[in-house]
Amino acid sequence: MLGFGEEHGEAAVRWTVGNLASDFWIQEDDELRRMRSFLESKETIFFSGLRRATMGPIFLVGDAAGMCIGLTGEGIRPALFFGEVCGNILRRIIENEISLEQGLAEYRAFVEMKRFFFDICKSAQGILTRIPPKWIDGVAYAIQKERVWNWLHDKYWGLTQEWGIDSQF
Ligand SMILES: Cc1cc2nc3c(=O)[nH]c(=O)nc-3n(C[C@H](O)[C@H](O)[C@H](O)COP(=O)(O)OP(=O)(O)OC[C@H]3O[C@@H](n4cnc5c(N)ncnc54)[C@H](O)[C@@H]3O)c2cc1C
Repeated sequence: MLGFGEEHGEAAVRWTVGNLASDFWIQEDDELRRMRSFLESKETIFFSGLRRATMGPIFLVGDAAGMCIGLTGEGIRPALFFGEVCGNILRRIIENEISLEQGLAEYRAFVEMKRFFFDICKSAQGILTRIPPKWIDGVAYAIQKERVWNWLHDKYWGLTQEWGIDSQF
């Protein structure tokens, strides 16, 4: 899975999107079998949606908190971003600037502010996974068009810009 906004580079992302509707040959029990992208389903627990950010006195970050984005499968930037936020709060607790309870509440509130974005992505993922297989070619064709692709890429990158490695929380 290739997150839309990470650093594989545009060529890799284009290749992935461009091959959404391709055929592939795979070897299975000494026989070659032709497979069509995305037409054979496989269950996964990859995208759980954003969960709670704390559990008792424990801070949850990354996949443990369901921070992998449902729509794109991108989980590295959010894990690093929220990890930095969490780390800063932990440092303030250790330095007795705030109590553990205050730190937990602050982290929960910060993560909750981002819930709408995660929910939107999860809903979009829900719609995409319910598209009838015979429409997949058309959807992939539409997405890989220069204008649509650029719009989607810019939109997604804009919405997740603060997760870049330069964030100064
Ligand atoms: C196949 C695949 C492809 C992906 N592709 C992308 C991609 O292209 N771009 C992207 O942004 N994201 C991608 N992701 C998602 C991304 O990998 C995760 O969202 C991200 O790694 C989450 O980081 P994390 O630190 O929360 O968890 P992890 O990276 O899973 O780190 C958790 C660590 O804790 C360790 N651990 C677990 N239990 C214990 C224990 N009891 N004691 C000690 N250690 C323990 C694990 O071994 C692991 O090393 C992909 C995920 C998968 C599965």
